[in-house]
Amino acid sequence: MATIKIGDLTVGGRQKVLIAGPCAIESREQLLQIAREVKAQGAHILRGGAYKPRTSPHSFQGLGPQGLFYLKEAAEETGLLTVTEVMEPEELDLICKYTDIVQVGARNMFNYPLLRRIGRTDKAVLLKRSFMATVEEFLLASEYILKEGNHRVMLCERGIRTFDHITRNTLDLASVPLIKKMSGLPVIVDPSHGTGRSDIVIPMTLSALAAGADGIMVEVHPNPKKALSDGLQTLDFPRFKELSEDFSAMAKFLDGLDEQRTHRVSRESNLS
Ligand code: PEP
Ligand code: MN
Repeated sequence: MATIKIGDLTVGGRQKVLIAGPCAIESREQLLQIAREVKAQGAHILRGGAYKPRTSPHSFQGLGPQGLFYLKEAAEETGLLTVTEVMEPEELDLICKYTDIVQVGARNMFNYPLLRRIGRTDKAVLLKRSFMATVEEFLLASEYILKEGNHRVMLCERGIRTFDHITRNTLDLASVPLIKKMSGLPVIVDPSHGTGRSDIVIPMTLSALAAGADGIMVEVHPNPKKALSDGLQTLDFPRFKELSEDFSAMAKFLDGLDEQRTHRVSRESNLS
């Protein structure tokens, strides 16, 4: 299994990684407030979109470069690492300069020139599964980055489109152990976009960890009803606190389980 070192953090190792932040960076105050809160609750990485891939061109499109400056400021104040989405090759250099991880969103998973361009950097990458990609297409997309020489790739399961609309997407947790085994890359699950509903983000977080995810990414906002994007799936601060407590308890439980399994395997091999 490959591990990826980002600053002092190792992704894909024993530690489970918590990524949290707003869907979109809306203002300096909004981002700093969220960064302080998620840091206090134990998050490792701050997420926040500066360039937003909105379904409607009439919706809020993000703050652009100004958002990146706020992200850098929040990182410097809190010590959090940062991740933000890149949509166009021309934005990549600036994004690399201001953040620790570049995210390729679901809509761009099939954008091979963008993937190749990211592959020619040494930046850590969070590649999200397209809502219409098979597991095989997802893994092949990651190979566009790997083939160019950048091996710092994390895969993100964020749900696929199915016939059922009770959730925004259908979170495909069966893909988690599969893509881990098939690629050897760290896997992150996004239960916010994967469900579209804040009321089931916590149980899906716990399920994702149990399925073997190396970390999760969730959307957080002080007032989700007022969020400029994705409010319905966004956790408020009390709900995020609950999530982070459950996250730690589950991570600890799974670590214990791993240890037991290791002992059992070594006992069995000693006996044989
Ligand atoms: C996001 O994480 O901000 C996002 C837009 O997600 P996705 O690309 O999975 O829709
Ligand atoms: Mn979002």
